Amino acid sequence: MPNIYDPQQYKLDDRPMENFLDANEIWDILKRNENPDPQRVREVIARALDKNRLTLDETAVLINANTPELIEEIKNGARQLKEKVYGKRIVLFAPLYIGNLCVNNCAYCGFRADNQKQKRMTLSPEEIRDEVTMLEDAGHKRLILVFGEHPKYDPQFIADTVRQVYKVKHLNGEIRRVNINAAPLDVDGFKTVKDAGIGTYQVFQETYHRDTYLKVHLGGKKRDYDWRITSLDRAQEAGIDDVGIGALLGLYDWRFEVMGLLRHVNHFEAVYNVGPHTISFPRIKTASGFKVRDDYNVSDEDFTRLVAILRLAVPYTGLILTAREPAHIRDEVLQFGVSQIDGGTNIEMKGYSKQKNQQDLDQEQFTIGDNRSLNEVMEELIGHGYLPSFCTACYRLKRTGEHFMEFSVPGFIKRFCQPNAILTMAEYLEDYAPQKTKEMGYHLIEENLKDYRDEQFREKLSQRLDRIKKGERDLYF
Ligand code: SAM
Ligand code: SF4
Repeated sequence: MPNIYDPQQYKLDDRPMENFLDANEIWDILKRNENPDPQRVREVIARALDKNRLTLDETAVLINANTPELIEEIKNGARQLKEKVYGKRIVLFAPLYIGNLCVNNCAYCGFRADNQKQKRMTLSPEEIRDEVTMLEDAGHKRLILVFGEHPKYDPQFIADTVRQVYKVKHLNGEIRRVNINAAPLDVDGFKTVKDAGIGTYQVFQETYHRDTYLKVHLGGKKRDYDWRITSLDRAQEAGIDDVGIGALLGLYDWRFEVMGLLRHVNHFEAVYNVGPHTISFPRIKTASGFKVRDDYNVSDEDFTRLVAILRLAVPYTGLILTAREPAHIRDEVLQFGVSQIDGGTNIEMKGYSKQKNQQDLDQEQFTIGDNRSLNEVMEELIGHGYLPSFCTACYRLKRTGEHFMEFSVPGFIKRFCQPNAILTMAEYLEDYAPQKTKEMGYHLIEENLKDYRDEQFREKLSQRLDRIKKGERDLYF
């Protein structure tokens, strides 16, 4: 087993449900690793490639490596790690906006309470059914439900919505994993939501920098930094060990935010012995009544660089990239080990079921940068040799810590993830793909089958593929 948990990097006095972040500590670490020797940078990259989880100091070394040559070496390191550990799978999902009522005033968000232009609505059960049906008809199997923060969206409401989504089945379609992005709850609230069978619960800290946090969160419960930063501790206390953290890039210095994310990972590992399931790092986008400011703007170059740094720093955590990014950025950072992307995304309320010719900025939470359909994304991925996956096997077989297993259990990807990617992709090709995508997809599957030297296993996989072609669904290892 690789040395992932290095006790030296934990602050041993971390406690459950208490803020752990000390801004001075983070700045000290960044400062003491300024202008790193190129040799040191290479050592750190080599340690990550050797399957070690990086310390805060080591991550600061990578963040401070500023020459074009070293940045390229970091990106190359991330590419290698991705190839070596994760192979070619990319998991696909779609967000579904359930309601945009919100009591908070986050300066950057179109849903903020004092945005008069926003039409407020909450999907009715029929509307949820219509949206989910459209998503299933496109081929989706994994959704993330998104909610504003409002008394109406209490834990019972969220749990009922989750159950309802699971019940919608159209033709061969079904949603097999529902994740949540909603306001922080208390421990009992998280228990209620857990009982509905959710996958991951995501809460983004937005910025780990307290002063900035207070500047952009102008009212409502979300203004309470400590309640927010401890939210996923409460989720863990409630038994949800599958949590997603995130920072909204562009509010403060990205270097600090990357260190904040890593410190958050350390906290979970120190206190709950399990890191977060996923990390998200959306770059802030223009929203109704809000223009992105230049001060902390994260350039494309810095963005791609920080994704590579994160991959090396937390090699066993899922990295999520969203449709907020334009296609060319998505295509680049996929090479560094982003493990999940959304496809065919629509973030307008009722957006999937209504024909939309033009984006209506006033009604979306923010603008998105990639408007391709799920099938266009599939074709692009397949064309580049990636294996799009709708796999939900680990979650349904209660194999928790799947990213950790992928990373640390030899052969796990080959025996489970890759075949399951192939099987779920075949379902997509049978049920939803146009002829051209189907041909491309099966060609890629054939190529991948050749990689299996274990004939018995290859045979097993081929048999399951045949069963899918004959109409069986939901086969997995
Ligand atoms: N209301 C809940 C909350 O604030 O945590 C969950 C839903 S909120 C709609 C989901 C995420 O959208 C936020 O955590 C934030 O990071 C992101 N977001 C808000 N405004 C954004 C913008 N202008 N550009 C990019 N992402 C944005
Ligand atoms: Fe409300 Fe979330 Fe938007 Fe803030 S980010 S205004 S809490 S929906």
